[in-house]
Amino acid sequence: MKATELYAPTLREVPAEAELTSHKLMLRAGLIRKSAGGMYSYLPLGWRVMKKISQIIREEMDAKGGQEVMMPITQPAEIWKESGRWAVYGDEMMRLKDRHGREFCLGPTHEEMVTSLIRGEVNSYKQLPLMLYQIQNKYRDEIRPRFGLMRSREFVMKDLYSFDKDVDGMNISYDKMYDAYSRIFTRCGLKFRAVEADNGAIGGGHSHEFTVLAPSGESSIAYCENCDYAASDEKAELKVICAAVEELKPLEKVSTPNCHTIELVKNFLNVPIEKTIKAVAFQDDDGRLILVFVRGDHEVNEIKVLNVSNALHLHMAEESAINAVGGSAGFMSPIGLKDGATIIVDATVMEMYNAVAGANEVDAHFINVNPKRDFDAEKIIVADIRMVKAGDPCPHCGKSLKMTRGIEVGQVFTLGNKYSKALNVTFLDENGKEKFFEMGCYGIGVGRTMAAAIEQNNDKDGIIWTRAIAPFEVVIAVVNVKDSAQLEYAEKLYSELKNLGVDVLLDDRKERAGVKFKDCDLIGYPIRVTVSPKTVENNSVEVKVRKSGEIFNFPRADCVDEISKLLEKL
Ligand code: ATP
Ligand code: MG
Repeated sequence: MKATELYAPTLREVPAEAELTSHKLMLRAGLIRKSAGGMYSYLPLGWRVMKKISQIIREEMDAKGGQEVMMPITQPAEIWKESGRWAVYGDEMMRLKDRHGREFCLGPTHEEMVTSLIRGEVNSYKQLPLMLYQIQNKYRDEIRPRFGLMRSREFVMKDLYSFDKDVDGMNISYDKMYDAYSRIFTRCGLKFRAVEADNGAIGGGHSHEFTVLAPSGESSIAYCENCDYAASDEKAELKVICAAVEELKPLEKVSTPNCHTIELVKNFLNVPIEKTIKAVAFQDDDGRLILVFVRGDHEVNEIKVLNVSNALHLHMAEESAINAVGGSAGFMSPIGLKDGATIIVDATVMEMYNAVAGANEVDAHFINVNPKRDFDAEKIIVADIRMVKAGDPCPHCGKSLKMTRGIEVGQVFTLGNKYSKALNVTFLDENGKEKFFEMGCYGIGVGRTMAAAIEQNNDKDGIIWTRAIAPFEVVIAVVNVKDSAQLEYAEKLYSELKNLGVDVLLDDRKERAGVKFKDCDLIGYPIRVTVSPKTVENNSVEVKVRKSGEIFNFPRADCVDEISKLLEKL
């Protein structure tokens, strides 16, 4: 391709709308343009990258037995009502009606669609396992679309769904996809980790998120350097921390005027924060009061609370609801509350001695609280509900966990028979018995992967692409196109590289060399070949590697070979 025929508008200024490096660079390098909040057009360079990533995904999905299909984006409400998710998906689902008033949504995901697709047609275990996938736009009306393609409202996703005859088969499909995902992100040149993850609203069994390590990422990951444990902060299982055993002192109520936060109480009573018990009060969609208690220096993990309480959403509790069970906001504990609340106590709290907790009345706390003695075991649920933090013991080996940030680019889930059961989709097994399919689902955000690749590989001058996903592998920059000797020299080299199958761009624009070089660095082609008056004179070309900044001068006779060799390493 020739740059004079390529639509690639670059920007010198940093666009005001963008905060994240990858977002700025994608706009500046002319990869994308915004149409509305969280909605983007992909320009030719951006779309070339998207196609290359999609092709890698396709090859790896096909290698594991996946078959590509294309299902409608527009999905009838009926199948979502069958699964129960029409009601629970909430405002993130983009809904519409046709001219007859029938309800539809723009697919945020396709479990219902693919399950109903095979209903009645896959009838026998002999047709299993089956893996169907597509690469297609998805729609989620995100509450805060931001960071360009990272969190958009319309985005390209690869989604694969596996159908197996039993749980063992489902786990084999899961392992295949896990392996494929590792290969995909490695081929894309990304530094990533597969982390244990929560299943979220999708339901089902176990799950991993594939997370590209980047300080700007929205995901927080706990990991162990001693063993291979890694988990999202939402998921990280935590060992119970046992305080040193103390003699149990008698429970006592003390006055704590205006001490409605843990900070104030700890200062007022002059106790370490590890000796305090903190309360957080939630209500679910039905108004049920859910009171949770963690150690003062710990944070509540709302995902764990959702899972333990079986609530769909959590909202901060109304004061009236707290008062109704005899509680008092800012001064809460499980001691002496009336019935009517779901009380969840973090397992670590149960191992505290002579601690401080609210006395369920204004300006009063209990001291010498010993949860095993003082909490009514019949009325509380004890569970791991706290958020991981650096230094917590690893649940596998006990060494200290570290925290890092990352970008979730893909996620794999086992679903069990949740959807096949809800939509009543069955097959006959070896014994002629009717069974529900055991399913899995596996997503990759193609645009988010592109953004993550830029986030991980850039410098002050622009993007640094890995060859496998670069919009072009090589660019030939002609210093002065008015000089026909230079242009002809470049065109010949361009044809040779092209004939070898190299994805090469000829920058034959009538721009100054400086402008071209800046654009080359900004767009981030892995290799730049410069054709200048010196090239013609000496019959040797200058080759610059974007990543390392190395510059080589190769005799013309060797340069095609040398470029191929360099590309292999990129
Ligand atoms: P997140 O937690 O970031 O909202 P998710 O867990 O809801 O994402 P999945 O349902 O697992 O997302 O979707 C599979 C993949 O699709 C994600 O791993 C991510 O790469 C991509 N993806 C999800 N939401 C978005 C979005 N709003 N914009 C761009 N890509 C997205
Ligand atoms: Mg996810």
